[in-house]
Amino acid sequence: MNEKELAPHIEDINRALKEKVSSEQIEEELQKFRDEYRISLGDAKRAIVKKFGGDPQDLFLNPEKKINEIRGDERSLDIKARIIAIQDKEIELDGQPKTIFYGIFGDDTGTIPFTLWESKSVDIEKGDTVHVKNAYANTWNDQPQVNIGSMAGIGILDDDEVPPFERDPQVCDIKDIREGMRNLMVTGRILTMEKKVVQTDSGEKDLFSGVLADESGKIQFSAWHDFQLEPEQVIKLVGGYVRSWRGIPQLNFDENSEVEIIDDQELPSADTLQDSSTMTISHLARRGGAVDAIVDAVVIDIKTGSGLIFRCPECNRVVQKGACRIHGKVDGEADLRVKGILDDGTGALTMIMTRELTENILGYDLDKAKELARDRMDQDVIKDELEELLIAQPLRVRGNVTSDEYGLMLVASDVKFKKIDVEEEARKLLDEVSV
Ligand SMILES: [Zn+2]
Repeated sequence: MNEKELAPHIEDINRALKEKVSSEQIEEELQKFRDEYRISLGDAKRAIVKKFGGDPQDLFLNPEKKINEIRGDERSLDIKARIIAIQDKEIELDGQPKTIFYGIFGDDTGTIPFTLWESKSVDIEKGDTVHVKNAYANTWNDQPQVNIGSMAGIGILDDDEVPPFERDPQVCDIKDIREGMRNLMVTGRILTMEKKVVQTDSGEKDLFSGVLADESGKIQFSAWHDFQLEPEQVIKLVGGYVRSWRGIPQLNFDENSEVEIIDDQELPSADTLQDSSTMTISHLARRGGAVDAIVDAVVIDIKTGSGLIFRCPECNRVVQKGACRIHGKVDGEADLRVKGILDDGTGALTMIMTRELTENILGYDLDKAKELARDRMDQDVIKDELEELLIAQPLRVRGNVTSDEYGLMLVASDVKFKKIDVEEEARKLLDEVSV
């Protein structure tokens, strides 16, 4: 077992021995019992606790932690916390639709994102104080989060069992806003906004959602209260919390937040902000994703599944050799797309261009592509042509960036070839040489 795998067991022993023995010593003992005496992990743990005068029963004490103590590798975890936010989400798990809940827990030491993977068995809502037992923690983009799975239990506590969290708001540039943050101070201009009526646990609610930007970047926001917001306004927000989905951070605020509409002449217009703020791929990776990001990068690969493809009419998946992975032999519908790898020197991501953008790059439409493939009796001619047109080309690509276990993915809404200014490059080179 490596150090990481041993860590939770060392922690169990530490807790049972009330931290009387150093972690290093426990680790040494544990390795010895395992490697030399070859006894099971459970027996080894009990033996070590006994050896140092502890009660092996205490190994089963609830590992209750404060939020700022959660490291993200706990296999069993109890916390007492307040629900700062909770939302439901439809996801697909093994091809089946499923409702999960996600949100933010807070206690007096901080906040942490959580996901409740089982349908709510107890009636919990925002503002409730809860005791969660037998949850587990993992990390996502280097940030710990709590998972409440089928083995866990949730109980409701009295409000005063968790002291309030009090801290000055954190002043933040929009590009630095990350999942799990809370109590922010953010100034930005509203680029777009729409009003929706959403169904919540407590009935219908007006939701004002849109995109907010400063000179560093853009972020989606959801205002759960009517602050009389309108596009072009510059707002100063104090409060709020951040939750992300598939890596795209979203800033939420409600009547508990302060929103001030300010007269700011310095922040550029919405049009200018819309088109500014490029991000490096390494920054996107740290952040987990972004809405309407602009990336300057080079295409280094065009993957199979690019060019002329066929999709299953049932589920839209790409059909391979006439068969859908789920629906078997189907009469696929033709489509065009690019699935490429973009690299900007700081990192790489997968870029998807849908039909319209792919047609623009090719200079002809889907019908013509089908004709070409038919004439040459080869579906790959379109992919070959895309490789020729795109590989090693510097592009400015724009679109939403999401992330999952396979990494970052940008679905392009716009692609421009970046002309390299030869004179400018030469001048830069000369400058460098003459220094
Ligand atoms: Zn299918």
